[in-house]
Amino acid sequence: MKKRILAFILLASTLLCLCSCSNINSNSKFSIHFIDVGQGDSALVECDGRYMLIDGGNEAAGEKVCNVLKEKEIRKLDILAISHLHEDHYGGLRNALTYASSIKLTISNSKYSDNKSFLKFERELRRNGSKITVPPLGKKYKLGSAMVEVVDVSAEKNNDSLVLLITYGSTRFLFTGDIERQGQLRVVNALKKNDQDFTHSLIKMPHHGAYNDKHGFNNNALQPLFWKYYPDYIVISVGKGNQYDHPHQDALDIVKNLIVDSRELKWDNHVFRTDLNGDITVKSNGKELTVKTSK
Ligand SMILES: [Zn+2]
Repeated sequence: MKKRILAFILLASTLLCLCSCSNINSNSKFSIHFIDVGQGDSALVECDGRYMLIDGGNEAAGEKVCNVLKEKEIRKLDILAISHLHEDHYGGLRNALTYASSIKLTISNSKYSDNKSFLKFERELRRNGSKITVPPLGKKYKLGSAMVEVVDVSAEKNNDSLVLLITYGSTRFLFTGDIERQGQLRVVNALKKNDQDFTHSLIKMPHHGAYNDKHGFNNNALQPLFWKYYPDYIVISVGKGNQYDHPHQDALDIVKNLIVDSRELKWDNHVFRTDLNGDITVKSNGKELTVKTSK
């Protein structure tokens, strides 16, 4: 009798593990819409009817972000993530929040900025019943069958950002905000703790493809980030003819070495830029990614 009970417990725990390990059922859906907001970032993540908006572009992009929410009839956001409190990341949100007026959780790497447009946005956010929370490093949030993990949350340096790693089945997506050298090195360390195998990895290129590393090309921090994360899909959110000359050639060279030389992937199928490709929609079935662009 004891043996039977033991066998039953073993079977039950194996089944439980199988269910929780393969957490994606056949009805599950996952997509990311990188919205072409010019010089700035904005991406809408959808999973099983749950929604996370990461950044909202600058003020001029607000109407576009709002229209994306309207088209999809998204009035309720499960998570609003603001990578950092720079205008090209939160400026468009005030407009977007006029439609999506219910926000369950708002997260960023900081709560404070004395910028006037930020204070206006913050008032709108409070009117919608939410306020910014700074999550602890390593915090995980469920978004349908996807998992969102905080892999960096520093606000020491000007471009430090809330960095989020989203995993869905055996695919993963890294949202890097505008991190530069120090942040990039911290993310390399954070990724060392995750040794799961992934079939496909996408990165939202840090800081609109900027390369400001002063440590020389052979000692930059972007390269180890790419070696550690090994993305096979890269999205650069950047405005056409922007005043900063983003993306910088050095950053593109790092991408090119990784993508074309070592993996023999085709540049056109794996590197996407909002200034050239417009809106970029990425879908995952948990194993494979498909990408569609508006241009
Ligand atoms: Zn930015």
